Amino acid sequence: MEAMFRVWTVFFQYQRKHYNKLPLMFLSDVFYWFSTNHPILQTLTESIHVFNNYYIENFHSSLRQQIHGSNMADQIIQEAQIIDQMHGNNSFMNVFAESHNIRYSARQLEYLEKCTTLFLLKLFTDVYRNLGGSKIISFDEHTKPKKYEFPILKTENEIDILPMAWNTSHIPHNDRCCDLEDCIDSCEVGLVLICGHAYHYECFFFKLESQCQYCIDYLSRGIKKNCKAFQKTLESLDKKAKAQDLNKQEATEDIESDDNTSDENFF
Ligand SMILES: [Zn+2]
Ligand SMILES: [Zn+2]
Repeated sequence: MEAMFRVWTVFFQYQRKHYNKLPLMFLSDVFYWFSTNHPILQTLTESIHVFNNYYIENFHSSLRQQIHGSNMADQIIQEAQIIDQMHGNNSFMNVFAESHNIRYSARQLEYLEKCTTLFLLKLFTDVYRNLGGSKIISFDEHTKPKKYEFPILKTENEIDILPMAWNTSHIPHNDRCCDLEDCIDSCEVGLVLICGHAYHYECFFFKLESQCQYCIDYLSRGIKKNCKAFQKTLESLDKKAKAQDLNKQEATEDIESDDNTSDENFF
């Protein structure tokens, strides 16, 4: 009660239009329940936390949507009863209204923290132990790598899921710092490109002119191959269409000659 009164003083002080009346209405209700010794008082004093304004607001919104300015009090009450009934049957809401305890005790939190630490420690130990352990496990008809095994992830994957560098004929080296073929390898500072190839700054900017030649070759070959295949399809379609035209022409000529023959016979 005191808390509600304090809440009201705050709203009143800040001149909130509706909230400066709402706590007073609540207090008025409580005084009324006191005077009539209403059973709701016991619930109110024992479980004040379950009185959530959200449901009231939500109910009012639904009711406002269903009624018009011209509706009489009886109609509004009737509508409210229908909405209330429907709220009770709302299985969609029930799924989300399921209460569950999301509070953890200090001991549970400590336990979860330890579990997470152990998980991360194991993961990074696995990564360290398996450095360079990923390997090609199958080839396609052109002896290109097709599938890789990743011991850390404990999976086998198609080459397509890897960055572009692993799809080219120059797969990045595990034991070198620069992937440029004719570079005298040294572990000077360099850069790893988004394709997955790594180069010395000097090799990339000066020898390769800021382009990953292996990936450009791979893409150009792909473009040429696809264009050729498309052209071949168009040519075969063209041939088919021409052959069909020829057939049609021949068929028409046959009919015409048949007609001529019959004409000849007629005369
Ligand atoms: Zn280099
Ligand atoms: Zn590349």
